[in-house]
Amino acid sequence: MELHIQKCQTCGSRNLRNILVRDEEQKVFVQCRDCESLVARYILNSGGYFHAGKGFESFLRSIERDGAISSARNIDEWFHSVEDSANREFEKIIDLANIKYGDEIP
Ligand SMILES: [Zn+2]
Repeated sequence: MELHIQKCQTCGSRNLRNILVRDEEQKVFVQCRDCESLVARYILNSGGYFHAGKGFESFLRSIERDGAISSARNIDEWFHSVEDSANREFEKIIDLANIKYGDEIP
């Protein structure tokens, strides 16, 4: 696994904002708060968005919007597996970041 903590290519700042966009796709634009440059754009896979602490209803709205619901067998089970894997991966990633960057993750 490779891990990288994003920073602005223009000014080196790590003071970034995520702008979530939904049109025909779900996208995340990352903007530098210091120099306002575009840092990155991500396009999410169908059903790929997980918003921690927002629960099942939010998940359901998200998959409805992106059309992924048509392929869902058991949505409740799907939600719990997405929630579990997001939380599990996050813990692992923070451990790895601590190994790579020390106690003060940038
Ligand atoms: Zn910047």
